[in-house]
Amino acid sequence: MLNFKPKNIVILTGAGISAESGISTFRDKNGLWENHDVMDVASPSGFDRNPELVHKFYNQRRNQLNSENVIPNAAHKALAKLEEEFEGEVTIITQNVDNLHERAGSNNVIHMHGELMKMRCVESGKILLWKSDLSVDTKCPCCFKKGNLRPHIVWFGEFPLFMDKIEKKLNDCDLFISIGTSGQVYPAAMFVNMVKANNQLAIEANIEETNISESFDFHLTGKASEVITKLVSDILAL
Ligand code: NAD
Repeated sequence: MLNFKPKNIVILTGAGISAESGISTFRDKNGLWENHDVMDVASPSGFDRNPELVHKFYNQRRNQLNSENVIPNAAHKALAKLEEEFEGEVTIITQNVDNLHERAGSNNVIHMHGELMKMRCVESGKILLWKSDLSVDTKCPCCFKKGNLRPHIVWFGEFPLFMDKIEKKLNDCDLFISIGTSGQVYPAAMFVNMVKANNQLAIEANIEETNISESFDFHLTGKASEVITKLVSDILAL
C-alpha cells in the first residue's frame, strides 16, 4: 500500500477512534447523541432555548471523560508513538472534543471542533480551562456575570477553529489518514478532496465503508485499535 517513505503525515480523527475508550460516537441509528437530538445539545439555537439542558449534557460528557474507565486506547497510543518515532512531521487534526490524544502522549493536535475541558466567555471571548460542572448560575471568572459561560465547542452552524492552519497542513502533507469519522460533518468530510486535488496519498480507516470511502486511495476496514496499530508499525518500518 505504501510504496514511498512519507515526510509529512496529517491524520484526521473522529468519534470512532474514541469509541473503544467507551465514548459514544455522534450518531446512533436514530440520529441521536447520547439519547439527545443533536440540535438540542449541539447548536446555538438549542443553547438559546435551554442553556441548562446544554450545560447538563456537557457536564455529563466531562464527567464521563474524567472517569477512571475512560482511557486512551491502542489507536491513540499508536498515533502518539508515530509522532515520537517518525522522522518527519505528524499532525493530528481532530473533530473530537475529548482529550484522549493528549493523554496518550500526542503533542501536535489541532482541535477543530473545540474541547470539552474548556469554556468560553460569550462577552470577552476568553477561553478558560474548566474541570467542574457548570450551570446558568455559574459566575464567569473574567466578567463576574452569571450565564456568560458556554462550552468551547463548535456547534452546528458555527465555524470550525484553526481552518487557515489546517488548510496549510493539508496542502503540505504527503500522506493523509482519516480514522473513525463518518464523513458527514463538513468541512472535515471535504479534507480528502483537498488532499487528492494535490495527488497526495489518502487512507481511510473505519469499521465500515463511509459515504466518502471512494474518495480515498485505500480503505482499511476494522477497529481503530487494531488497524491503526498495524498501520503505524508499517509506516515506522519503511
Ligand atoms: P460520527 O459519530 O459521525 O462517526 C463515527 C464513525 O466512526 C462512524 O463512521 C463509525 O463507523 C466509526 N467507528 C465507530 N467505531 C469505530 C472503531 N472502533 N474504529 C474505527 N471506526 C469506528 O463521528 P464524526 O465523524 O467524528 O463526527 C461527529 C462529530 O461528533 C464531531 O464533530 C465531534 O466533535 C463530535 N463527537 C465527538 C466525540 C468525542 O470527542 N469523542 C464523541 C461524539 C461526538
